[in-house]
Parts: sequence; C-alpha cells; structure tokens
Amino acid sequence: MPLTVREITCKSALTKTGGFLSAYTHSLQPYTGCIFQCPYCYVQALPVHQYHGGLWGEYVDVKMNAPKQLAQELARLKSRGKPVRVFLSSATDPYQGAESKYRITRGCLEAFAADPPDLLVVQTRSPMVRRDFDLIKQIKHCVLSMTLETNDDLVRRRLTPRVPSVSHRLKTLEAAMATGLTVQVTVSPMLPNDPVAFADLLKDRCHRVIVDTYFDGDGAGGKRTERLGIRRLYAQYGYETWYAPDAHHILLKTLKEVMGADRIGFSKEGFSTVEDLSGHT
Ligand code: SF4
Repeated sequence: MPLTVREITCKSALTKTGGFLSAYTHSLQPYTGCIFQCPYCYVQALPVHQYHGGLWGEYVDVKMNAPKQLAQELARLKSRGKPVRVFLSSATDPYQGAESKYRITRGCLEAFAADPPDLLVVQTRSPMVRRDFDLIKQIKHCVLSMTLETNDDLVRRRLTPRVPSVSHRLKTLEAAMATGLTVQVTVSPMLPNDPVAFADLLKDRCHRVIVDTYFDGDGAGGKRTERLGIRRLYAQYGYETWYAPDAHHILLKTLKEVMGADRIGFSKEGFSTVEDLSGHT
C-alpha cells in the first residue's frame, strides 16, 4: 500500500500526559501515524488511530505548525511558572521518513533550544536523529533515548521489518556518545535476544538501559498485545518461550551484572527516573 501523507494544522503541540508517562508533564507528537508499523504498537488501539481510519503504518499526518505552536505554548507555560517535562514522542516516531522533508521535529528542537524545558526526552528508533545532534546537545536537560528491542537483526527483520537495522542504531548510539549527548537505550518492548551479546553491545554505547515488556508496559497487563495477535506472530517463528511475563529476567540480570544495577531501569519506574540521567549533560 502506498503511504498517504497529509499536511495538517494542529490546535496544540503539547499534550498533557500521565499514566505510564506520569513523570512527564507533556508529550509532543510532530506527526500522526508512523511508517515503522511495529506490529505490537499500542497506538493502533488508541482513538488517535481508530478515528483516523486507514491502516496503521500507511498514513502520516504532518503537523505543519507544530514548531510555532510549541514556541507559544512553551512561553505561556513558563510565564506561569509551570514545570515542562516533555516526552518526544509517545505515539509516533519523530524521525520517520517524512521528517527528512518537513523537518517538523527539528523545528520543535529549535523552539526547545530557544526556551529550554525542565526535561526533554527525544525517543526514536531512527538513525535520522543524528542530523539533529547539534540541537540536542544545545538543549539543557535533554536525553536522547533510542529504542533497540533486540541485538538480533534476524528477529528485527522477522518481527519489525520496517524498523531501522540493529547495526544502524548501534552506530547512531556510538555517534551520540562521541558527540557528548546523554544517551539512554530503551529495550522496549524486549524482543527475543541473546542477553550476554546484547549487554556487551550496549555497555559502552549508552549511559543507561531501560527494559520493558508487553506485560508490564502495554498499559493493560499484556491484554492489548494479546489482542494485536503478537502471541501468534511469535509462534510463527518458534519464539513462544519469549512470550511470557518473566522472559525479561535473564536480560535484566545480565545487564545489571555487565553494566551495574544503577545503569539499568525497568518499565514505568525506569522511564520515570530519566531525570537523574539528564545530570550527565
Ligand atoms: S516506532 Fe513507535 S509509534 Fe512507530 S509503529 Fe513503532 S512503536 Fe508505534
């Protein structure tokens, strides 16, 4: 199916947040929709997709005015003395293909650089983020958080074929560390992996790792993931033992042994303590 791209105007840039992201005041989605089409993506079950129509992964709405709108909202919040801790993004990837043309995320980072928030987490699976390392470095209390769900590129190709390769993301992490950014890896959701090899790859490529699972992180104790048919997808490739509430224990233990327990977080609590990490900047 061809990708449908629409240019739209948003009424607001920042969205008040809570629940899993209760450590943040707002999330920011420069786009609606996501070409990475992860089969487990919980956004497919949210009203933002269900009212949109179309198949998940086959449309992208570009919020053309998001940077300008964001600058106004930041000024308003800060003039009222409100805390501003932003998660960019929770329902789209800010560095999917459309960003190379539209540069909406970059425009938002420019607004943050001009008027820094108390905390900004840039969450992506895409090596395209490298283009904006200059801006990320300028923003105080900004963390680059890259998702890497597995060390095994065959698993990645089977389960999330549209997502950038493991090697590209590892190279991006290396570049981020070399640039002096504060870097977090989110193994979220954890996919089948080799724990020892995975921990070895991550130990020098980030400051901290957060592990999350379908059962702890999908907001419904794994029921949302079940409805999306991920159990069947795993069975297709013989990954059944990885679809269990305790499947992450070995990786978590190995990461703590290799990297030190203070550099490892888990699920909601891990996402909530990122503020400590921004002290690296
Ligand atoms: S990258 Fe994130 S928003 Fe995009 S499909 Fe995957 S999980 Fe969903």
